[in-house]
Amino acid sequence: MNIIEISEKFPTELDAVKYFEMNRWGEKPLCAYCNSPRLSKRGKDLRFKCYECGKSTSVTVDTALHSTNMELKKWMFAFSIVCDAKKGLSALQLQRNLSISYPTALKMYHKMRDLMSIENDTIKLDDIVEMDEMYVGGKPRKFNDGQTDKPFKKTSIPKLDERISELKEVGVTFKRGKGNPAKSALNPKRGRGTSKIPVIGIVERNGDVVAQVTQNVTAKELKAMVQKYVDVDDSVLISDEYKGYSKMDTIIEHVKIDHQKLYSYKGINTNSIESFWAIIRRQIIGQHHQVSLKHLPKYVAEAVFKYNNRKIDDMFETLITNAMKTPKKEFIPNSL
Ligand SMILES: [Zn+2]
Repeated sequence: MNIIEISEKFPTELDAVKYFEMNRWGEKPLCAYCNSPRLSKRGKDLRFKCYECGKSTSVTVDTALHSTNMELKKWMFAFSIVCDAKKGLSALQLQRNLSISYPTALKMYHKMRDLMSIENDTIKLDDIVEMDEMYVGGKPRKFNDGQTDKPFKKTSIPKLDERISELKEVGVTFKRGKGNPAKSALNPKRGRGTSKIPVIGIVERNGDVVAQVTQNVTAKELKAMVQKYVDVDDSVLISDEYKGYSKMDTIIEHVKIDHQKLYSYKGINTNSIESFWAIIRRQIIGQHHQVSLKHLPKYVAEAVFKYNNRKIDDMFETLITNAMKTPKKEFIPNSL
């Protein structure tokens, strides 16, 4: 829902409150404390008094928006503006759009990122998945994208040909994809061994992505992430030749592409996860000049949420639902 639609459908704060109530309880609001349907008439503050337990109750009580001072209509605008911002948004822009203070805009944005992260823990990936890491922080630097010096001409890699035909026999085919000509490698180091903050990601081709901010990229950590998010019995993992991936074949079918040699070989590439990293760079590094370790997981969660919802446009409704269905005490944002 865009901001024009919100203005038209919800001209008053009461309309907005009713929309949230409908999401939480359906037609008939209940007491947020004792679930009783026996409520007083709505007061001027749009709250109810419960005849059962005597408390003053409203739709935000015991939700992720518990004790918010912000009008729910403004929350709706904020959800809409943030969901529509495909390339990310700064809290400063949100402040201007909503005519609120900067600290409030920042707090609201972080809350929205927390709401975006709620289901990230339950994502499951299968089929052909690609795994890689990126490094955030430090000075802005150039990345590999399009910076090939020598276009890859013609070569064959017997080791990979063998893996490709092995996997073909069990029904796995790698599509080469359009616009992904094989590229020669450049600058393969990409920050490994630097002081930047690593983010590990796994993406299912044409599917969802998961990404996690981490302190170190160790083999143990990479494995744990695969086991948590990937259907290891029914998937093939593609990664580069980083040593952290070397024992991956003990838990999952694994194919490696040696980025020192080339980026793509007969559909063996990590282009999908690289595209996600490009989004992260645009959304995070493009919007925030300095990214602290403290906030990075939230920015990553926003990028993951938007990526995974790129095909169906119900992010706005999802955020409302996430806000309403999450009890205040359970609202502990996860690491994603
Ligand atoms: Zn009650």
